[in-house]
Amino acid sequence: MGTPKVLIVGCGVAGPVIALFLKRKGYSPIVLERSKSTGYEGSALSLAPNGMKVLSTLGLTTSLDAVQYETTQDITCDGTLLSEGKVSSALIEKYGQPMVALPRSSLNRHLKNALLAAEIPLKSEFKVSEIIEDEDQVTVVAEDGRKESGSFVIGCDGINSVVRAWILNSHGLPPESVNFTGIVQHRGLAPTPRSMLKNATGLKFIYGPSAYVTYYPISSMSCLWALYQRPKSGAASWPDTRFLTPEVQEERRKELMEDLKDWPEFVKDAVSTSEEIIYLRLCDRPILPPEQWVSVKGRCVLLGDAAHPLTPHSGQGANQALEDTWHLAQFLPDLKSNTSEPADVLTLSKLKAVFDAFVQKREPRTTTIMNRSKNLGNLKCPDSPKGERRRAGYFETIKFNGAMGQKMQDFMFGEPF
Ligand SMILES: Cc1cc2nc3c(=O)[nH]c(=O)nc-3n(C[C@H](O)[C@H](O)[C@H](O)COP(=O)(O)OP(=O)(O)OC[C@H]3O[C@@H](n4cnc5c(N)ncnc54)[C@H](O)[C@@H]3O)c2cc1C
Repeated sequence: MGTPKVLIVGCGVAGPVIALFLKRKGYSPIVLERSKSTGYEGSALSLAPNGMKVLSTLGLTTSLDAVQYETTQDITCDGTLLSEGKVSSALIEKYGQPMVALPRSSLNRHLKNALLAAEIPLKSEFKVSEIIEDEDQVTVVAEDGRKESGSFVIGCDGINSVVRAWILNSHGLPPESVNFTGIVQHRGLAPTPRSMLKNATGLKFIYGPSAYVTYYPISSMSCLWALYQRPKSGAASWPDTRFLTPEVQEERRKELMEDLKDWPEFVKDAVSTSEEIIYLRLCDRPILPPEQWVSVKGRCVLLGDAAHPLTPHSGQGANQALEDTWHLAQFLPDLKSNTSEPADVLTLSKLKAVFDAFVQKREPRTTTIMNRSKNLGNLKCPDSPKGERRRAGYFETIKFNGAMGQKMQDFMFGEPF
């Protein structure tokens, strides 16, 4: 047996990063992506110190074209400041990395370039639809009939993971469906509103009745806005599609401007000037028990959203996916420094032990963060007067309890090393 070939399904966040770690350790990864170029390109995301630390071990933070946050603010939609913090310098001092934001397309391009530089093959338009697993190898089959075989499969194929469905099937379990969390999101990229040009490096959360907005710059001239709200009657049946036709986008823009009429001008400016409005019904999946992260025969494992799809309220989905890659890479044997044959180093029972250790490490933390993210969504988008009071009480507590905020930061950003 030569260098073990590893089939990585999905070229979003976790896929290319685990591929880079594996290549360094002497494996032959190949990344299989259903889309034409890389994964979903729209919108933007923020990366926290825990995710940035993982990228930094691969030398991927230096040329990352991202904006560092200098401050964070929680404010009400009528302008009352609820809490404020300085982030970048404090985070770098404490955790070694800042908090940053960037367009998803930039991150995808950056990771894809790193794959190319490391000579890791990326097969695009390869939509995995079937997995055949036996004692010696595993084969993935694309919708168009193409096949790839290898030593093991890492499912980095996101919330609608085919690898997850296969693993559940291997355990004799029926297919699951995604759960609608009761919150919808509209978002877009816009030119930085004039009033925010001097305040271009701040992350803001703005709270209004039953809703909140996240606003942050992604370059000196552009920003991301995202409105999270409880759907009005009938809206829950809107189709789950990110891409709305131009006509529907204009209808939605009018509705959003009406919903936001009492909100700060910069929020309205951003919504009114966004070229594209993206819509999403926020969904998650049931928490996966540890044994269901790995197939029964032991050659398929899940990473990132495929294992623990996180709602965006904690801003941790990509960061947790990155932590997963770091830990799995730590548990897998380094074939370069090993003098034995890869076949002896990587027997099926050893592979199973690696996957088990990885899952034992990751499942408790990701479960806690999944639950926290869901609770945070319900807290920030209250659906009753009682919920509004609970949200107000939460901000009173964090205002007077700095230690609580610090403890949470340490929990989130203190990992994976
Ligand atoms: C609106 C929104 C905002 C968010 N904002 C943030 C944020 O600010 N910070 C943060 O940390 N997280 C954020 N997240 C979460 C974050 O986007 C995800 O947690 C992260 O992308 C997960 O990475 P992943 O690699 O597991 O999956 P993904 O990034 O979803 O990648 C999955 C890849 O698999 C491919 N794929 C799927 N099926 C197949 C198949 N059958 N065959 C081949 N390829 C396939 C897809 O095309 C895609 O490229 C947000 C999520 C949403 C929905």
